[in-house]
Amino acid sequence: MKTTAATPPRPLPRLDADNRAFWTGGATGELQIMRCANCAAFIHPPRPVCRHCLSDNVRPEAVAGTGIVDTFTVNYQPWYPGLEVPFVIARVALDGAPGVFLTTNIVGCPPDSVDIGDRVRVTFLQQEEIYLPLFEKID
Ligand SMILES: [Zn+2]
Repeated sequence: MKTTAATPPRPLPRLDADNRAFWTGGATGELQIMRCANCAAFIHPPRPVCRHCLSDNVRPEAVAGTGIVDTFTVNYQPWYPGLEVPFVIARVALDGAPGVFLTTNIVGCPPDSVDIGDRVRVTFLQQEEIYLPLFEKID
């Protein structure tokens, strides 16, 4: 998904060594989540040290990119000019990455069609060098 005139720019994260794989993995179509090579736990948001075992042997790993809507809300507030409302803000539990939840948007469907437990798949919205991981429902 590329930015179009109908898609106003979003506030973008500042890239650093820890979060670069997460925010740019969409360039190769991969959702990259930091994982500890010592205890195998996934770590999100990405950090240089595992919060479970304090190992610094952490590295990004591609996950399936699917998950389920854990909870959600519908936003009606146009927070900045050009922002199209309503839209869904959701917390997605990722498949294959226990304990990792992404706060994201569910796109490509009417907001009132989204429900807790819906199966979703990542789709990336590119803005500059950032690939924002958004999700669409799996039919
Ligand atoms: Zn660990």
